[in-house]
Amino acid sequence: MSASASLPTSLDSALRSIAGELPAEAYTTDPDILASYRTDHAPFCPSGIPAALVRPRSTEQVAEVMRRAYEHSVPVVPQAARTGLAGGANAVDGCLLLSVERLDRILEIDTVDQTARAEAGVVNAVFSRAVAEHGLFYPPDPSSWETSTLGGNAATNAGGLCCVKYGVTGDFVRGLTVVLADGTVLRTGRRTAKGVAGYDLTHLFVGSEGTLGVITEVTVALRPAAERPLTAVAFFPTAGAACAVVPDFMADGARPSLLEFMDRPTMDVVSGYQDLGFPSDAGAMLIAQSDRGELARGDLERFARIAESHGGEALVATDPAEAELLLQARRLVGIATERLGSYLADDVCVPRRRLAEMVERLPAIAERHGVRVTTVAHAGDGNVHPHVLFDRNDEGEVQRAHEAFGAIMDLGLALGGTITGEHGVGLLKRDWLAKELGPAGLRVHREVKAALDPRHILNPGKVLAASGTRR
Ligand SMILES: Cc1cc2nc3c(=O)[nH]c(=O)nc-3n(C[C@H](O)[C@H](O)[C@H](O)COP(=O)(O)OP(=O)(O)OC[C@H]3O[C@@H](n4cnc5c(N)ncnc54)[C@H](O)[C@@H]3O)c2cc1C
Repeated sequence: MSASASLPTSLDSALRSIAGELPAEAYTTDPDILASYRTDHAPFCPSGIPAALVRPRSTEQVAEVMRRAYEHSVPVVPQAARTGLAGGANAVDGCLLLSVERLDRILEIDTVDQTARAEAGVVNAVFSRAVAEHGLFYPPDPSSWETSTLGGNAATNAGGLCCVKYGVTGDFVRGLTVVLADGTVLRTGRRTAKGVAGYDLTHLFVGSEGTLGVITEVTVALRPAAERPLTAVAFFPTAGAACAVVPDFMADGARPSLLEFMDRPTMDVVSGYQDLGFPSDAGAMLIAQSDRGELARGDLERFARIAESHGGEALVATDPAEAELLLQARRLVGIATERLGSYLADDVCVPRRRLAEMVERLPAIAERHGVRVTTVAHAGDGNVHPHVLFDRNDEGEVQRAHEAFGAIMDLGLALGGTITGEHGVGLLKRDWLAKELGPAGLRVHREVKAALDPRHILNPGKVLAASGTRR
């Protein structure tokens, strides 16, 4: 990195004195290290030149850092594992990057109240395995669960494969410790099963993408361990036929623990990576799971019957190894797509009954903009991930890819959906947010931001345009 940015000298020395209590490398202005912390996983999102990186180990240290940054009105970008797909963790010019990756302790697992408390930087998979040892289950399972953190998942309200039955991260967050812009430590929510005291501040911070406060601790609800799921797969002549199964299956009272969709272009991408023997004439596929123990087989037989009524051919796995193979197809999508080069991962969510219309209209968008679009979906949630593929060396194609990306969001909104089901707004979708919120929604967003972050130092320019958040 040739350009550089620096903090005010008095802030730099204050942070060095805080860092004096921390292990080496907790505070750094080394340009090479800063460069490696500059962006998250979102392609084509601008990132600025950070001035410094601090990696505190406690809520108190985060509070001290925020107090100093507030005094100097220095922008702070909260970061965790930087697996975000919306540019939310990207640096802004002259900012202090505040990484919670060293807040990595699980503090308590309570088998009676079925809750757990952990620091924000604990990796989801580490946490999920730890609670499983107590016979408990933490359902939120973003595909990034081996690297993304509980705090990052709360800050983005992350979803995952089993949301269709269990819900998203926010459905499990009961309470938070948050450091506000001025360094105040706020404890929100509860650990009890019920509780209605005051405004629901916890869920104001869930999904706020680092713009309202720095989450340092999360208290989450757990469930008893689920039964091992049974798996079925169905192949269909067209994408529309596959998606038409979803409203019928759900209206039938089904409670699948997973219901995933892949279109033919995605199946081809996966086959190019590993041949899983997909039928050559299939236009799309669905994978369904039920974890309802003895009821699971009946659930999947109903799924198979409904699939067949839409022209599908279904197969219920007879053993866990076969089930694992079927799921493998879905798990390979990310890695197989990445091999193809540049792509923009869209993330609209539509009502289930509009899902078929959504996927059926995507090829026309691809054709109109001269790009390739491959689509997977958390079909049970109506959450569609069209991947817009393009050649990053072709300026015209990059431009057309962005236009296609926007057209997909416009279509999602026109069908009564939202521009993002789980990846968040960050920088990537900021310009579309106003369309979804409308003037009153946007005004309330700005007022909440101004009330909690009057100096506009927390993750400026993310979610809301920077100018829009100032009074
Ligand atoms: C391969 C891959 C698969 C993915 N699959 C899914 C998926 O299935 N479902 C899904 O929802 N997402 C998915 N994602 C996106 C991403 O993993 C999630 O958004 C995740 O929740 C981000 O967590 P993180 O710890 O990496 O946070 P980061 O990327 O570091 O940060 C994300 C946002 O949260 C803010 N933030 C982070 N930590 C804090 C904190 N402690 N306090 C306040 N703000 C904070 C940041 O400022 C930023 O705006 C995937 C990403 C990848 C690369």
